[in-house]
Amino acid sequence: MTLVLSSGNSCQVCGSERLRELVSFRELPRVTSDARPWPAGGRLACCEECGAAQKIVDDAWRAEIAQIYRNYELYHQSQGDEQPIFSGQSTGPQPRSALIIDYLDGALTLREDARVLDFGCGTGSALKTFSGRHPRWRLYGAEIRDDARERLVQLPNFVELYTCDLDAIDARFDLVTLIHSLEHLISPVDTLIELRRLIGDDGRVFVQVPDCAITPFDFVIVDHLTHFTVESLRRLGERAGYETVAAHDALLPKELSWIGKAVASRDRPAATPHKGMDEIRAQVDWLNAQVRNSRELARSSANFGIFGTSISGTWLAGAVDEEVDFFVDEDPRRIGREHMGRPVIAPDNVAENSDVFVPLIPKVAAAVKSRLARQGVRYHAPAEIVR
Ligand SMILES: [Zn+2]
Repeated sequence: MTLVLSSGNSCQVCGSERLRELVSFRELPRVTSDARPWPAGGRLACCEECGAAQKIVDDAWRAEIAQIYRNYELYHQSQGDEQPIFSGQSTGPQPRSALIIDYLDGALTLREDARVLDFGCGTGSALKTFSGRHPRWRLYGAEIRDDARERLVQLPNFVELYTCDLDAIDARFDLVTLIHSLEHLISPVDTLIELRRLIGDDGRVFVQVPDCAITPFDFVIVDHLTHFTVESLRRLGERAGYETVAAHDALLPKELSWIGKAVASRDRPAATPHKGMDEIRAQVDWLNAQVRNSRELARSSANFGIFGTSISGTWLAGAVDEEVDFFVDEDPRRIGREHMGRPVIAPDNVAENSDVFVPLIPKVAAAVKSRLARQGVRYHAPAEIVR
């Protein structure tokens, strides 16, 4: 069932007022982007014109966001360090920003003393990587709070942390990066328009966001307002007055990367065909099925565990609640600790006669299942998304 919204909300991507709410989303438990369980009650809509999925910005959502950011603890489980990316070919796990800087070094030709602003710099982990790689870059950060200042000023080439509104920044940059920040913004188009002033004609904007076409778990993250696909990211950038220099989904798993440069004049981008509502409904149904199936499994299992302690594992544990006995994780920094009051166990140490649900996208979950399943320990992967 869907509901046409009352006026006042317009699509974050294309500006259309034809947003439709997907009511089945309201019953889904949620999670915050810093991995805390959050109750059901969110509102998800799909734009009938461009197909983009997005949260409905109403008073309830604004109040939730304010509450989340008051207590925000990015990467709290590993003391402020980035989660490593385990990519098949590399020599070992690397921080995500190391892979991003590798990519930017290949895609852009920046001068040696480039001025670089990380918009939404969080704890400063990307700036730290940039600083190590490019000691002559002059680095700036922008964030809503100044908690990271103490860490940032230790970087030898760090210049300034802005906690003001964008329009109060009077500086020019060769590169502005938004690494997992655009999806949080209440008006991403306005921010991108404002950033055009800061990069001038020659600067570049780099955006990294989750890919909701690959991972429906993005929808249940309360403080993610806009849920991007490669098409909608490109479309938003073009609506904000940029030309797409690069857009792709191969840099990091389940994520999208986009580089834009400002264009002086532009045509409104043509509407692209989209699956829109049907696609998003299929993904929300798939999330609801995981909640149902894992609750059922937890009730009938002697020993019920959840694979992973990040976003999706925390989300599902919040949904199943007291019937979760343990978590399974392969990250050595998490093994042996507690998460949500339950032990975090290495795969080898899971007790016999256990069931472990793997809340990951079907292909990845199936791979985990076939890699870890052993005598007496049953891993359960979600079914394919029925589109
Ligand atoms: Zn739209």
